[in-house]
Parts: sequence; structure tokens; C-alpha cells
Amino acid sequence: MIVILKKNPDEKQLKNLMGWLESMNISVHPTEGKTHTILGLVGDTSAVDIDLLRALDIVADVKRVQEPYKNANRKFHEDDTVIPVGQTQLGGGVFSVIAGPCSIESEEQICAVAQAVKASGATMLRGGAFKPRTSPYAFQGLRGHGLELLLKAKRMTGLPVVTEIMDLSQLELFDEVDVIQVGARNMQNFELLKELGHTGKPILIKRGLANTLQELLMSAEYVMAGGNHQVILCERGIRTFETATRNTLDLSAVPMLKKLTHLPVIVDPSHATGISWMVKPLAMAATACGADGLMIEVHNDPKSALCDGAQSLTPEAFDDVMQSVNAILPHAFKAPKEV
Ligand code: PEP
Ligand code: MN
Repeated sequence: MIVILKKNPDEKQLKNLMGWLESMNISVHPTEGKTHTILGLVGDTSAVDIDLLRALDIVADVKRVQEPYKNANRKFHEDDTVIPVGQTQLGGGVFSVIAGPCSIESEEQICAVAQAVKASGATMLRGGAFKPRTSPYAFQGLRGHGLELLLKAKRMTGLPVVTEIMDLSQLELFDEVDVIQVGARNMQNFELLKELGHTGKPILIKRGLANTLQELLMSAEYVMAGGNHQVILCERGIRTFETATRNTLDLSAVPMLKKLTHLPVIVDPSHATGISWMVKPLAMAATACGADGLMIEVHNDPKSALCDGAQSLTPEAFDDVMQSVNAILPHAFKAPKEV
């Protein structure tokens, strides 16, 4: 980090600033120029509040040289993180396909979908019990009962399960859940992220509707700073001016995230497009550009789904997507360690 001082800085304030930085184990290297003095800060500056520095009377500007995330940073952890989940894993060369309905609706529904997606090669089962809906009048999910049904499907198929948590009060119900999902709308629920950092469970964080990759990585950093390093990132489309699709899938996020972080990166083409026939081309594209996996919504009867039917695949359509994805996998882009 580089701090550019204003002309003729007050000496006492400068001494205080240097003392404060050194108290954080940061060594300060001043260089006097013709007009300005700059301070080169060496050490772990991730805990330095850049806005606070900028607001000081004697400071003209501050530039970060190093990213503000340390745990998630590929620079400090060259090898891909591999997260074991049940008999399978996320990252490390295993392509994970997480499939299932948007919402768990009944035992018959979740069990039928679980069996079908397993037969087509899905490695994990998804299903929402606590649903973040835009309207308070829309189906809110079966909540605790939904989780029980999801766990039945897990026992029946042996597939590990992924489901969303919306609030800390629900955490006690997640004991047998394999991967806890933090939805796009909660990506910056920092209290939730902090608490999930104290669990021993893999945490799948979906990119917020209007969040940068750096913000997504900072959310991962929240979980990791608490000691839980099992974090998976999910690109699920962002808000743009385009209205033809539900969101705009930012596929450039995949190779870029793979460069910036060692964490597994997956893509959700269902929420990205909102349209079932578009799931296949975008699942194929996501596979080709180097994603570690996919999350796809599948329903046994999409027309009568209580949530997101328009983007849900039938089991047959999902099987077709799996075949196309498997054909692409051997040719998928592998990001070089140093791009
Ligand atoms: C979901 O996966 O069920 C979901 C609500 O997705 P998102 O948070 O990406 O909107
Ligand atoms: Mn959904």
C-alpha cells in the first residue's frame, strides 16, 4: 500500500500515523519527492482501513498494491482448494453438477427429481427450503419441513445436499446439510457470513445482483477469516440494462476468478437466464470456459412448479444438458497458474 502525503505534512500528525501503522506490524518506508512525500507500507495491510487513512488531514491519497483479500487470494495459496463433500468433492479437477428444484415442494417431488438427476450424473442435490422471494405473497418454501424432505432424498439417493440459509436462526436445522448456500441477496449479509465462518461446513456463496468480483471475494474472505476455508463461489448472473433475460451471465467472471482465487468457481445458468431453453447453451459455455461445476434447476413438472418453473429443466432436458457438458469437459479451458 502506498500513502501519498499532502505538501508539508504536520510532523506530529505524521509521527502519529507512522506509530499507528507500525503498531499493526506494518513497516513504513518514507520517500521524499520534490513536491510530495510518499510512504511505502510493507506487511499485511488487509486490516488497514483505507477510507480512514484517506480521511486524515495529512494524506492526499492512498493506493492499494495488494488485493484486500488474503485468505482467498491465489497469490498466497497457489494450489486449487479441494473441498470434500460426502463421497465427492468440489474443485481439484472434479466437475460438480448440483441439480434439483428451486424449491422443495413435496416428498414425491424432491425424491423423484433426486433419483432422476442422480441417474443423469449429478453429483449433488439442490432444493430450497427457505426461499428469498421478491414478493411476500409468493410461496416462501416449506422451511423446516422442506429440510426434512431434502434429507429424506439424501438418504434415499446418497447424494450430498445443498440448500440456502437466509438467517442465522435457521443454522441449528442445517446439521445434516452438506453445503450451505448463501443466496445472491445475502452475499453481503456480513453477520451471517461471519457466523458461517465458525461452522465446519462448506459454504457456497452466490454473487450478488450488483456486486463486483472483488466484493464477492471479500464475502468469501469474511467466512475464511472466521477459520472456515471451505468456500465455493457461484456466478449466477448480474443486473444489467438488458431485459431479454432474467440476468446477464458474466462468464468472464469464471477465468478471472480462477486467476484471482484458489477457491472452486461454479456457474448457475438457470437463475442467470430465467429461461429453460437457454440453460443448455450457457451450461456448455460455462463448462468450456473453465468452471469447476454447475448449479441447475430441475423439476419433474416445471409447468406446475411453485417457484422458477420457467427456468427449470425437465429430467429429460437435464440429461441432454449433461451429455453435452460431458462432451465439452475434456476440451475445457484450464487457467494457467499465472495469467
Ligand atoms: C437459488 O439458488 O435458489 C436462488 C434463490 O438463487 P439466487 O440467490 O442466485 O437468486
Ligand atoms: Mn430458483
